[in-house]
Amino acid sequence: MEQYIVSARKYRPATFDMVVGQRALTTTLLNAIRTGKLAHAYLFCGPRGVGKTTCARIFAKTINCEHLGPNGEPCGECESCRAFDEQRSMNIHELDAASNNSVDDIRELIDQVRIPPQIGRYKVFIIDEVHMLSQQAFNAFLKTLEEPPKYVIFILATTEKHKILPTILSRCQVYDFARITLKSTVDHLKYVAEKEGYQVEEEALNLIAQKADGGMRDALSIFDQMVSFTQGNVTYQATLENLNILDSEYYFRMVDLLLEKNVEDSLLLFNEIVEKGFDGGNFIGGLASHFRSLLVSRDAKTLPLLEVSESQQKRFHEQAMRCRPQFVYRAIKLCNDCDLGYRQSRNKRLQVELCLILVAEATDEDGAGAGRRPAKTLKPLFKQAVAQVAVASAQTTAPQRAVSPVVPQSATTKKVSSAPTLQKLNLSSTSIRMPSGKTLQSPVGQPPQPEAANEPTVPQATTLTRKFDTDNLILTWQQFANTLPQSEAVTAQRLRAITPEITSPKSFSITVNNPFIQKTIEKLKGEIVQYIGSALQVPDVSMDIQLAAIEVAVKSYSKPDLFKKMLSDSSALRQLHQIFELEIE
Ligand SMILES: [Zn+2]
Repeated sequence: MEQYIVSARKYRPATFDMVVGQRALTTTLLNAIRTGKLAHAYLFCGPRGVGKTTCARIFAKTINCEHLGPNGEPCGECESCRAFDEQRSMNIHELDAASNNSVDDIRELIDQVRIPPQIGRYKVFIIDEVHMLSQQAFNAFLKTLEEPPKYVIFILATTEKHKILPTILSRCQVYDFARITLKSTVDHLKYVAEKEGYQVEEEALNLIAQKADGGMRDALSIFDQMVSFTQGNVTYQATLENLNILDSEYYFRMVDLLLEKNVEDSLLLFNEIVEKGFDGGNFIGGLASHFRSLLVSRDAKTLPLLEVSESQQKRFHEQAMRCRPQFVYRAIKLCNDCDLGYRQSRNKRLQVELCLILVAEATDEDGAGAGRRPAKTLKPLFKQAVAQVAVASAQTTAPQRAVSPVVPQSATTKKVSSAPTLQKLNLSSTSIRMPSGKTLQSPVGQPPQPEAANEPTVPQATTLTRKFDTDNLILTWQQFANTLPQSEAVTAQRLRAITPEITSPKSFSITVNNPFIQKTIEKLKGEIVQYIGSALQVPDVSMDIQLAAIEVAVKSYSKPDLFKKMLSDSSALRQLHQIFELEIE
């Protein structure tokens, strides 16, 4: 039976040319060898599985080769090359500092350094995970690193460059290994699959590369695993299942639902994902990445940041064009916040669900007020009366203004709805419906236009004439607020919050709590007075705008002051204070 060799070993590059995804770095190394400018110590930094040790081995083999090829690559035929290939070369020493980090280990290494090479020119010492060396080991090593014999070259490798002491850094030539890009990984996997005669789907290789996160060794080992699981036919679906990766399809569907503000179905979809055995935290992390992909796929400039296949890129772009950028920013922020709070949360599921709801809500926020303006959908309590009046006034007086249903302040509503006049109004409003079904114009709630007032077909019942009393004043006031156009929604909102009061048979007053609102309303004064005057048949009504006495700003209490205040407010606390002699520090 043929011996099985894992792909990571079988396809370990034998020359710099075959190293995947580190072109710039390998070219520099090759040039150094070709021109004979070798340093005595190198530091290879970079994430795991990107080729640091591999490059160190190729480097050792290359500088010892007796007949270097024209392009600087080792010949693979000389005694030294064969010794390297058969892993019996005496010129290469590897020390894994993760498990051999004591002073004794370093002393042993230093003993080896003293012996010159028997064959070849250089002895190469590779110290892997060099940041794991103990402090004493470091100190023992430093002298040798500084002045090694001419035939010795050190190659230190680390995944954590920031843990390397400056004294070491300054003595080495530093090479930073990059994460291998998704495309390079996929291409290499494709190459291996072709060599081995496996059937593979490109999307499946994409998944594997994503999972390996820039490490070729991991990618190859996952690939081996998938090959044995699928018996040489690596499909997308099988890879998804085996690697326990949530299909990106779910994220596309989820975002579609959120864009539609379909909270119910988005919660159901999340439930489906949880039932498939996926963790909510992973899901929310994935959703955040999905939004990030949407963000970068909007613009051709940022498109290279999106590491997915071309067909996926199109999908991202298509979905991205349906989202407003502000929505995407906000969604990323929300998902990220959820992700941060997820681990501490006691109700993790709720945390995710809440996030989904907030994201759905973020779809209709405009950029300026994002997250600050609550969506008001209060139902007007006396909408029947007002709606009809509003329709009537929209027809006659202000067709250019969007008339929205009244959203009264609760206090106002209570007052008005309990008033008997309103019921009267209700009745009268309905009573003017003609048998033909045509709604006649009602003088209620509109400045009676001369022609409308004299309209012969409108029965001018006395009940229709609203008296100038508090209830009618409040109602008319609210109606005026409704006639303001959408562009003055804020002012309308402020007006609705105000309750006018009658001060004399021909005047009323309002109280506002800041000069700014006072100014705004001053500007509208003419319109308001005319509207109310004609609606309530007090043509020369006057309005007085009062500024509420400014409340003394509550000062911030120091802790002892706050405690004193709490003591004076609460007798229970006073008792506790006496019994236990509580004091605040
Ligand atoms: Zn050779």
